[in-house]
Amino acid sequence: MNFQRTVKDKIKIKGIGLHTGAKSQIKIIPAKADTGISFIRADNGKEKIPLHPELVVSTTNNSAIGVNGQKILTVEHLLASFYGLGIDNAIIEVYGPEIPILDGSAKQFVDAILEVGLETLEKPKKFILVKKPVRVEEGDRYAGIDPSPDFRVECIVSYPHPLLKYQRREFRFDGEDFEKEISPARTFGFLNEVENLRKNGLAQGGSIENVVVIGEEGVINPDGLRFKDEPVRHKILDSLGDLMILGTHIIGEYRGYKAGHKLNHGLLLKLLSNPENYQMISAEHPQLAKENGFKIPRWLTPKSI
Ligand SMILES: [Zn+2]
Repeated sequence: MNFQRTVKDKIKIKGIGLHTGAKSQIKIIPAKADTGISFIRADNGKEKIPLHPELVVSTTNNSAIGVNGQKILTVEHLLASFYGLGIDNAIIEVYGPEIPILDGSAKQFVDAILEVGLETLEKPKKFILVKKPVRVEEGDRYAGIDPSPDFRVECIVSYPHPLLKYQRREFRFDGEDFEKEISPARTFGFLNEVENLRKNGLAQGGSIENVVVIGEEGVINPDGLRFKDEPVRHKILDSLGDLMILGTHIIGEYRGYKAGHKLNHGLLLKLLSNPENYQMISAEHPQLAKENGFKIPRWLTPKSI
């Protein structure tokens, strides 16, 4: 049986926000089964912000969630680590306006969580089973999700830059290692966009410490890339984080072509807008999976539980 998970103990992580440049600290706190994942702006108002696509308040270069004027920016990399580690329940207290960017990937979140370990709870995992194809488009870009016997993510990035003309990668959830293959992939950006982002109040905390910066001649970070196709791996990471805003893991096939947070958010809203698009299922009914030709996803990371 595939049981719900939370973190074994409290985890504290400190850093600065990519967009605000503000110092920030988060505490990830264990939570009971069936309570889900929720954020609390602990330094300001202390209102609970549960995960739901309707609580996304901005998708400009990050995914931000909020209620009643209290918001938290750049939740996607932390949420990708939750997706990748199969965490269903946790409370995240945030002291500051933004989740720390750390090294621009999800690796330090994953390492910190695995260091304290995961707790298996006594309730079966729940999933959103995709029943009908759903797709949102903007120009030639799109994000879509199709019914599939398991969970997989395919991303394609394409930019007018020789280094990033076309990168495609598929991540099969039960066949590849999220911790090693996806979580270390860092945020990337183009040098010629930095000035514009900063003018618009974004990327105030961005540097080569937390962003792969691509100049005209190539990557300007002295250590180069962690993977040859690090940008498309990061897109997969971002997509996992954005999908986690549903609050529940998915059985379906996500595909993003030049997609970003805005399209992903539109996709989640469209998926939930029609009850015929999906079905909530529980891992306690493996028979249902057999009869309907899908598999309950299993998590490869960590291998010990
Ligand atoms: Zn990202």
